[in-house]
Amino acid sequence: MRLDDYDPNINVEDQRGQGGSGFGGFGGGGGGGGLLFAFLPFIFNRFGCLGVAVVVGLFFLFSGGLQFADTGSTGGSRAPTEASRTAGGSDVRSSCNLDASSKVACNAFSSADKTWAAIFQQQGQHFVAPKLVFYGGNGQSGCGAAQSAMGPFYCPNDQGIYLDTSFFQELSQRFGAPGDFAQDYVIAHEFGHHIQNLMGTSDKVTRLQRSSSEADGNRLSVMLELQADCYAGVWAAQNRDRLDPGDLQEGMTAAHAIGDDTLQRETQGRVVEASFTHGTSQQRMSWLKRGMDSGDYRQCDTFAGAI
Ligand SMILES: [Zn+2]
Repeated sequence: MRLDDYDPNINVEDQRGQGGSGFGGFGGGGGGGGLLFAFLPFIFNRFGCLGVAVVVGLFFLFSGGLQFADTGSTGGSRAPTEASRTAGGSDVRSSCNLDASSKVACNAFSSADKTWAAIFQQQGQHFVAPKLVFYGGNGQSGCGAAQSAMGPFYCPNDQGIYLDTSFFQELSQRFGAPGDFAQDYVIAHEFGHHIQNLMGTSDKVTRLQRSSSEADGNRLSVMLELQADCYAGVWAAQNRDRLDPGDLQEGMTAAHAIGDDTLQRETQGRVVEASFTHGTSQQRMSWLKRGMDSGDYRQCDTFAGAI
């Protein structure tokens, strides 16, 4: 995708370079074990609140931290670690130009920002821009500790999209979804969660989940995730003139690779549909495509009017 350079006025926060990463970081696939145990208590009550607990639950299920990811609100019971004190660098340019991945993230974020601001304006709705937060290894968010093993995620409490850019390598190397558009899709998906937050969809879902069984809660989570995929497609469609010929396929490959069924088959050798929280590969591809084909967020009613 041929995106413009980011607007230097976007909201970027950078927690990198503020101490070591606690969990071994990227490579070798070893980064997760300690985390897993640290988060075990969350796993079985993960739908008390939608959020970090969900991400961690997924991490457990798929034994490797991968999902991009979920809205999060949390009891905040995890104190920030010493290595993850508050944000530093407010210099957008130095953060965005740190490396190629950061640049891709900033460009996609900036484009999504512009696109959604225009859509809201057309609807006479007030748009609030989110922030893009870079961290390395571990960081802190308004929803508790940020760990790279969670994959990228959106925190509604501080309206931040949290990204450890090493996920882009993982997407390419581990999940077989290379290409700039696959990375753009990650950012656009998280941006989609911000849109759901602004539209009140996330709150409605969280309220419903409080009174739902775990299976129903999971189904709602799937609808929320598929809608974020569709919103990512809407963003791409609104920037159709920037798309390269292989982009749709790159997006489809990424959407396929991170479907719950595909991930479960790969990591646990079997598929347990009731535990899906993000949707099957087929569903993810089809909702992304629906957004890309229509360019209209109103076509993204994955809830079929149920909320
Ligand atoms: Zn998500």
